[in-house]
Amino acid sequence: MPQFDLIVVGGGSGGVRAARIAASHGARVALVEEYRLGGTCVIRGCVPKKLMVYASRFAQEFEEAAGYGWTLGDARFDWATLKARRDAEVTRLEGIYRNNLLASGVQLFDGRAQLADRNTVALANGSTLQASHILIATGAAPTRGPTIPGHEHAIDSNGFFDLQTLPKRVVVQGAGYIALELACVLQRLGASVRVVVRGDQILRGFDNDVRAHLTHELVESGLQFDFGRHVCSIAKTADDLQVELDSGETIAADCVLRALGRMPNAHGLGLEALGIALDAHGAIPVDEFSQTAIHNIYAVGDVTNRVNLTPMAIREGHAFADTLFGGTPRRVDHTLVPTAVFTTPELGVVGLTEEAALLRYPRLDVYRTSFRPMKATLSGHTGRMLFKLLVDRDTDRVLGFHGVGPDTGEMAQLMGVALQLQATKSALDATLAVHPTAAEELVTMRTPTVRHAL
Ligand code: FAD
Ligand code: NDP
Repeated sequence: MPQFDLIVVGGGSGGVRAARIAASHGARVALVEEYRLGGTCVIRGCVPKKLMVYASRFAQEFEEAAGYGWTLGDARFDWATLKARRDAEVTRLEGIYRNNLLASGVQLFDGRAQLADRNTVALANGSTLQASHILIATGAAPTRGPTIPGHEHAIDSNGFFDLQTLPKRVVVQGAGYIALELACVLQRLGASVRVVVRGDQILRGFDNDVRAHLTHELVESGLQFDFGRHVCSIAKTADDLQVELDSGETIAADCVLRALGRMPNAHGLGLEALGIALDAHGAIPVDEFSQTAIHNIYAVGDVTNRVNLTPMAIREGHAFADTLFGGTPRRVDHTLVPTAVFTTPELGVVGLTEEAALLRYPRLDVYRTSFRPMKATLSGHTGRMLFKLLVDRDTDRVLGFHGVGPDTGEMAQLMGVALQLQATKSALDATLAVHPTAAEELVTMRTPTVRHAL
């Protein structure tokens, strides 16, 4: 039976990073992947999604070009061309992942893995591998959501990437990252899209002001929301799908996309038999070093349901490998997380929301500005950007940045550096503007719009 220092189960963002770093520290590493190397992010998440987002934004560019003197020919979009080119890019990246792992000295095994005991991994083909340490990095999968009549006619985000044609009429259920990003892609590529939301707002957990502003912008751009509504049933007819809401309304659609959250891939791995109980969300509980209840078994990434983003899975995998095989114990900080929602317009965030900040910093100053970007003056586009900074009056520390509009994801990355360095508002004020940009507003907001607890 092959002996290793480390077996990694799952070849996604967290598993691949952990395997490569452990190997670079001299460990003998095996990695088992049941589907495709690269995992959710590369194969059916961040990467193909962002390519679709790019594709979807051209229509508005074409429209806006007229205001700048351009006359364009008849613009047409071909889904099949985009899909083929996107899939080829994903395959190219998958190959790079494979080559990098092999070049690092990691041994690759295909198929589904299960833990037979605390040192042994059983593969689907009947063979087994042994190691002193095992890392579970199996990620997560779309939840099915409540079972409703006809739910089998709906697709999830995996099904979205398999669509062979652009559906003309789409019902999207959910109001999280995935529902909104994919709704915008479909709508901007030409579909008419209705988003059915059980609550009265989108994007739970984000700043309330920002949620309201983004909703307004999305509605203005043609997305239709049904708030406070559930999908009760989906009936397939010869021509289309009949989607019944709890209001009694029936919507005719060509596609129903349910994006209701994701479930950790922790079941069926044999963990419970080893004494690792899953938490209430079905995730693997771990400590700050990603160690499970069994001392030689670790878990990173979405399967632990901490912060379910690619950079966090990578960070956790890297820290795990440095801790165990590099002689450098490293904890991962899960508190300051820059993130972007790639709707159009997009949303970039780092730090606390106003609601969360107020719980700990009652003497809070809010700097807020909403404006039409300069490009819109000639293009005629009516969308407004929003920037919001939250500042603790006692220490002058910037606690949060929130932006809605073009490139705010890029801005969140840079504001993340500033917040990591514990930037003060005075430091932003002392920073010279880059003119003319939208981001210069971040260093030129002089007067708070709201002063809490004055
Ligand atoms: P994964 O990348 O999911 O990798 C887990 C791997 O384990 C998979 O390859 C799986 O096949 C394999 N596996 C599972 N069980 C077994 C088993 N028993 N045996 C062998 N192999 C197994 N995050 C961002 O930061 N930015 C984004 O823009 C973004 N967009 C997203 C868009 C979509 C549509 C989705 C679904 C997710 C998106 N995410 C995004 C989230 C991001 O993809 C995940 O947080 C990230 O991939 C988690 O990495 P991971 O290593 O934990 O798991
Ligand atoms: P989210 O948890 O973000 O959103 C789930 C949505 O489904 C919420 O609107 C939720 O409503 C709704 N919902 C849940 N259960 C039901 C139900 N029974 N009936 C009706 N609505 C329901 O999950 P996603 O699937 O969108 O994304 C999963 C994670 O993947 C994200 O949280 C993020 O970590 C990651 N991701 C990151 C991206 C990025 O970085 N750009 C892009 C895509 C994914 P409610 O608010 O009421 O709970």
